[in-house]
Amino acid sequence: MRAVAREMSRQLQPELAPGLHLVATPIGNLGDITLRALAVLARADVVYCEDTRHSRTLMQHFGLRAPLKSYHEHNASAMRPLILDELAGGGRIALISDAGTPLISDPGYKLVQEAIAAGHSVVALPGPSAALAALTCAGLPTDAFLFAGFLPPRSAARQARLEDLKGIDATLIIYEAPSRVADTLSDLSAVLGARPAAVTRELTKLHEEVVRGSLAELAQRLADASARGEYAIVVAPPEAGEVGDPAIAAALSDALEDMRLKDAARVVAEALGVSRNRVYEIGLRLKGQQGA
Ligand code: SAM
Repeated sequence: MRAVAREMSRQLQPELAPGLHLVATPIGNLGDITLRALAVLARADVVYCEDTRHSRTLMQHFGLRAPLKSYHEHNASAMRPLILDELAGGGRIALISDAGTPLISDPGYKLVQEAIAAGHSVVALPGPSAALAALTCAGLPTDAFLFAGFLPPRSAARQARLEDLKGIDATLIIYEAPSRVADTLSDLSAVLGARPAAVTRELTKLHEEVVRGSLAELAQRLADASARGEYAIVVAPPEAGEVGDPAIAAALSDALEDMRLKDAARVVAEALGVSRNRVYEIGLRLKGQQGA
């Protein structure tokens, strides 16, 4: 442990450089804070967070006394000019979120964009994020992945978004509220079919849980459960050989030159071995785009 103390004091020694420091914090287990995060939070002039009461618990746990100010969805546009003024005055500003990495399904993007445009230094302090924690323990391919954040809350819009994501050759990572996790799994199963997936819950916390199975199994398993806690869902990419939407759209475009949609959908569905409904839906979207 002496080496850890030595490293901590090494981290604390230099003055913190002026600029915006994006600091990842734990998603549940306070032991996941990094030494560098502690060193920056200890020396920052001010720490911007979503909820000062929530983040005070974190700061107090580690004996950190930097002033906390709020920067959240609802005050972001009013606060940004003030933060940019502080940066212009040489301020050493830290940005954290309620949990995990700021900007990942959390506020901060516009602040970073404007800080960069104004020529300020912007530094990332990597650390916990539910997305990567879920991906790494899911047991699904990690070579290419797409973080889809939260899907739309209503089923029709969610299914439309899933149709867009369906053909992407990458593992999908999705955040979901407990009240919607069952409905989302049911839509995932309906739109993406029989893909392997994992539902992760309360990662790094006492009741951490990872349930792995096909989307249909997971949808069934979660259907009756009264879901509680924080969920991240990971879904495998389409099977090699599975016909993607772009291939269907290309075949349909050709067929539509000589046929009505109904006939084109039947011919393409038979040729590619996919459902007629799926082809028909893609045809409707194609026609919508052409009409737009
Ligand atoms: N910035 C955070 C990050 O880097 O992970 C995410 C913030 S987002 C507003 C919160 C969502 O992340 C939750 O609704 C849940 O879907 C997911 N999440 C956060 N903590 C989690 C945990 N411990 N286990 C599983 N999912 C989690």
